[in-house]
This record gives sequence, structure tokens and C-alpha cells, in this order.
Amino acid sequence: MGPRSVVTAAGSIAIALAAAAQQPPAAATAAGYRDAAARLIEAAKGSGKGYEVLQHLTDRIGPRLSGSEQAAEAVRWTAEHLRRQGLAVSLDPFPAPRWVRGVETGEILAPARQKLALTALGESPPTPEHGVSAEVVEVASLEALDALGEARVRGKIVLFNRVMKPGWDGPETYGAVGALRGRGPAQAARLGAVAALVRSLGTLSARLPHTGGTDFPKDGPEIPAAAVAAEDAELIHRLLASGEPVKVQLVLGCRRLPDVESANVVADLRGRERPDEIVVIGAHLDSWDLGTGAVDDGAGVAMVIESLRLMKSLGLAPRRTVRGILYMSEEIRATGGRAHAESHRAELGRYVAAIEADAGGAPPVGFTAGVGPGGLELLAGIAGLLKGLGADPVQAGYSGADIEPLRALGQVPVLGLRLDGTHYFDWHHTPGDTLDKVDPAELAQGAAAMAVMAYVLADMPGTLARPPAEAAH
Ligand code: ZN
Ligand code: ZN
Repeated sequence: MGPRSVVTAAGSIAIALAAAAQQPPAAATAAGYRDAAARLIEAAKGSGKGYEVLQHLTDRIGPRLSGSEQAAEAVRWTAEHLRRQGLAVSLDPFPAPRWVRGVETGEILAPARQKLALTALGESPPTPEHGVSAEVVEVASLEALDALGEARVRGKIVLFNRVMKPGWDGPETYGAVGALRGRGPAQAARLGAVAALVRSLGTLSARLPHTGGTDFPKDGPEIPAAAVAAEDAELIHRLLASGEPVKVQLVLGCRRLPDVESANVVADLRGRERPDEIVVIGAHLDSWDLGTGAVDDGAGVAMVIESLRLMKSLGLAPRRTVRGILYMSEEIRATGGRAHAESHRAELGRYVAAIEADAGGAPPVGFTAGVGPGGLELLAGIAGLLKGLGADPVQAGYSGADIEPLRALGQVPVLGLRLDGTHYFDWHHTPGDTLDKVDPAELAQGAAAMAVMAYVLADMPGTLARPPAEAAH
């Protein structure tokens, strides 16, 4: 992630002109949209419609794990809902991965008997029926695991134990620590471990295990992998510190099943002048199975649907098409996002920007972006319209798993709607990710921020400079 880059509207004129002469001055662009932005923000505030969408997804449909019947129902329901709003809706089919959870228990057998609060990581293979039992070896990083080497890892259960901090930026936050869950179990398997436990990537001490995907490369060995509650990781750590061997038993009944035909939901608000040019607004429709996916990512889905509704109901027909995409199967290897970028590869030159909302339902605090020269300054000028919401900061950075393939395959400028991350990882991927964690007024602010940014990008005379072909950050 790059340094925070916030420029004043006045300052951005000179920078944008110098950096990219073909782009309109940022402040001038933004000034022309003050009225439209105010209308969108005001209409969002009084609507409550986004929250109704979120309530249906969470309370009525429930958990939407990739490949499940509830995920299929979410596709059906949102497509129908968007059609009823008068949008052009299509389903973009692809084979969705299917993995199901089974029995999951764990226990410390020695030097004291203690039950563990744990949950299988997505795509973990099962243990044998009666589980695996082995001594635990603890590491705090992937490097530390490599340093231990095969001699000290073979036959053991590896515990990855590292404290995670709240928020989006910094070395100990999700972006950095997440590699322990994503790559740790596969690396432990290569060194001969019999199972892996990962301290939950979470920021609340409620003895809740946080699930999430783990990645076993096709050609490598796989071992059962689970997340343990932070408190239980601490307990194992203290027992190990006493110098005695710590033995743990793990029983997992989860398993992979054959792929299921599923789909991304695509809804177009057709552009009035250049309908072939597209601004994407996206979020992911699938969730983990433990909670009902309110903050991850029902809130984002509600913001996308509400943004389209706001523009349509206010009669704001932008110059270009605004394409809402509700991605399926983000939680399992970001499969839906890749499927969309690959199947639309020939058209990606006409995708002029993509915005993702996958950061919860808290108040908006700005945008991350992966754009070409002058892009950040132009975006800062537009985001200035959101100063009243506190959503005006723009910085270079990773913008979302679903839209990353658009950038990587088609050099599409990408933006991530950033929401207050203080409590996001308290409930992320736990049974506690439910509707009550989202405040209706805050959700409406997020929808307003997305709607304003999407509308201006779709309507302004020019387009953002495209990011370079290599990694944008
Ligand atoms: Zn997630
Ligand atoms: Zn997510």
C-alpha cells in the first residue's frame, strides 16, 4: 500500500493537468457534480432500502456458502429484485467450488485436558474419523516455520500464533497476517506436519474461531486445517512455555464436493451516450457459513443494489453504463471475480473503472485505488464531494479480490470503498457476522459514497488513466 495521498481540490487542478493532459481538471470535474452528489446523498439518507436488501439476504436467505442452496437462492432473489427495479439483468454462469463443513472438535490431551474452540478453514480436507493426535509446534511466521525445517515439523501439528491488529493498514493487520491462514497450512504440509491450527484472524476476545479460506496448491500435499480462538492459541502457548510437550487431538468432517453451476449476477443501468463503456460497482454475494454474512459482504451487496436504485429513482442517467456485479464464490479462491474477468476479457478495454465494496457496513472513510498517472488526483477531486460524509481521502492500495482480476487481466482502474475498519475483524468470518452488526444509517452512507463515485466516473467527459500492466501497488 502506498502512502496516504489526499490533495485539496484546488491543488489537484495543477497536478491533474500536468500528469495527464487529456484528463479534465479534477476540481472542475467535481464542481459540475455538486448538485447530483447532494441529491444522491440526501436520497440515500432517507431510503432504508439498502438495509431491507441486507435484512432479506441475512435473515431470510441466511449463510450463502459457495455452492450451497442458499447461495443459489441469493442469486435468484437478487436477480429478480434488480429486474423489478427496471435494470437489464443477466446471469454469468461458472462452476462454483463446493466445500461443506462437518463435525469439528478439538481438545488438548496433555499436559492438561481442555476443549478447544475451533472451526475448519475453507477447503480443509477431513481428518480420519477418529481424528489426528500429535504434539504441537508453535510458530509466529512462515519464515519461522521454514527455519524449524522438516526435522522438527514432521508428524506434528503446527500452531500459527500471531496477534492481529484492527484496521486496514500496517504490518500486523489482516493484509499482512492473513498469509498465515492462506499459505501456512500448505507450507506446514510440505514439511510433513499432520495438521495445522491458525490463531483466528480477529480482533475481539470472545473465544470465537474465525474461519476463512486456506490455499493448498494443486500439486502439493494437504492436511486438515482449523482456526482456533485467540484465547485457545494463548492457552497452548502458555502450556508450551512450561516446557512440557503439548498434545492436541483434532476431528474435522469437512470435505470438498464436485463444483456446482452458479453465477455472478450482472445488472446494467444503461448509459445514455456511451453505453458500451462500463463502470463496474461490485460486491460478493457469497459468505461463510458460520454467520449470515452481514458485514462480509451482505453490506457491500446492499450498497451496490442501493446505488443502482438511487441513480435510477433520481433520473440520473449517466453517460456510460453502470454495471452492478454481485460476485459469487469470492470466499473460495475469489472464483467469481476471476470467472467474470476471463469470460469478458475481450471487452475489458471498455471497462473504464471498477469499484468494490467488501469492507463491511460501517461509515465510509474514503477510497483505495489502483490507477494510472494523475488518477489519484482526479479521484481526490471527485471524493471531495463526499467530504460531508468523511469519505474524501483517497490513497493508492489494494482495492478488492473480486475486481483485482479486472486490473490484472485488463488494466481496468480499480477502487475500493473503504469503511471504518475499527470493528470489522471483530465479527469477520464468525457466527457473530449477523444483521445487528450493521447500522442502517451507516449502511446508507456507504451506499451514498459508492453511488456518487460511480455516477461521476460514469458521467464525466474523460476517463481515469489505466494502471500499468504490472502490479499497481
Ligand atoms: Zn470474507
Ligand atoms: Zn468479503
